[in-house]
Amino acid sequence: MKKQEHTVKSIAPGSIAEELGIEPGDRLVEINGQKVKDVFDYHYLCNEEFLTVVIEKPDGEEWEFDIEKEYEDDLGIEFENGMMDDYRSCSNKCIFCFIDQMPPGMRETLYFKDDDSRLSFLQGNYVTLTNMSEEDVERIITYKMSPINVSVQTMNPELRCMMLHNRFAGEALKKIYRFAEAGIVMNGQIVLCKGVNDGAELEYSLQELFKLAPAMQSVSVVPVGLSKYREGLYPLEPFNKEEAGATIDIIEKWQKIAYDRFGFHFAQASDEWYLLADRPLPEEERYDGFLQLENGVGMITLLEKEFSEALAAAEPSDKEKHILAATGRLIAPTIAKLSERVREKFPNVHVRVKAIRNDFFGERITVAGLITGQDLIAQVKDDCPEDTLLIPISMLRSGEETLLDDYTVSQVSEIIGKPIRIVKSDGADLLQSMIE
Ligand code: SF4
Repeated sequence: MKKQEHTVKSIAPGSIAEELGIEPGDRLVEINGQKVKDVFDYHYLCNEEFLTVVIEKPDGEEWEFDIEKEYEDDLGIEFENGMMDDYRSCSNKCIFCFIDQMPPGMRETLYFKDDDSRLSFLQGNYVTLTNMSEEDVERIITYKMSPINVSVQTMNPELRCMMLHNRFAGEALKKIYRFAEAGIVMNGQIVLCKGVNDGAELEYSLQELFKLAPAMQSVSVVPVGLSKYREGLYPLEPFNKEEAGATIDIIEKWQKIAYDRFGFHFAQASDEWYLLADRPLPEEERYDGFLQLENGVGMITLLEKEFSEALAAAEPSDKEKHILAATGRLIAPTIAKLSERVREKFPNVHVRVKAIRNDFFGERITVAGLITGQDLIAQVKDDCPEDTLLIPISMLRSGEETLLDDYTVSQVSEIIGKPIRIVKSDGADLLQSMIE
């Protein structure tokens, strides 16, 4: 097996590691006499009050530290490879996989299909459990690592094999039962495909998953994303208004059952279902503390709440501003509604909302997170008389100022000839970006 180096990338200011003199470029050798295989091991071994940590300095000298700390205190070390091991790629070929629906010619990393349980803990990724080894299952249970986010899709084993195109995908569901038995908290996700795992199949999946509550603390249901690049792929169709309504009815039925039994709502419909069905979004309490925001569940309700609170606290001003807010078609009506409310306290702030059509992936893709620089430029370049352009941070790759197709924010700004303000994904920053 390839030896992992565990090189220190940075040290958190004021941390234990800084106090000890551990520096970027140093290498972690062992903790309490044990080699560290990956980030699971690292977190587990660090959860002690007394640690003996061996570090190798760049000149090859080994330093040994005896550390006394609070049980859960972190050492404050960030490693060059966050996972401290190679990334595991997925062993499936799901009928709904968005990576298969991307056009060729994009940055290579965008085509990497990861399905690594360690990313579930590090970044909240949803994993299918199909390539999780028995050793990993044991480690999660022994280390009591929670929560783990599971891409369930269906609790029908045969159907799961078909949907994931993996003959072991049905068998892999047994791991969910083992985690539940061991009290490992899970969040589930179901990507709903019309005529495949919807209707009675969805009903069955929620019924089975509910048997695993409260360890299974939430299950989100999201409609499949369909780009225009589906040639040769499994034929999938978008949901219509009636079907969206029927899906919501199933989910809300399980919310009532769960709430009566456990006091939480368990099943969650992503915002898209309500917009598609033209029904009002649920009230904040129904989202159980917004457990599945990253799946687009409750995002609009939370945004509206944060925006309203920030607006109520803001000092009025009559300063004049003209702003264009570009975003995805899904959220555009919400942003437009909120920007109208800005005038309550800022009568001279004029915000125009522009819903960007997704020509790159196809018009059925309506989320802001999949808008490319080329679509943004094409639709805004000759239509931005305003002083500033707002774009949501979800349009950018995580941690970068780059859009999906590698246009940087400064390039876009230069081409359209206007400054761009990036709006963080909270309502307070949205208001701030309009009035500041
Ligand atoms: S698990 Fe399925 S959806 Fe996820 S990357 Fe692999 S093939 Fe794609």
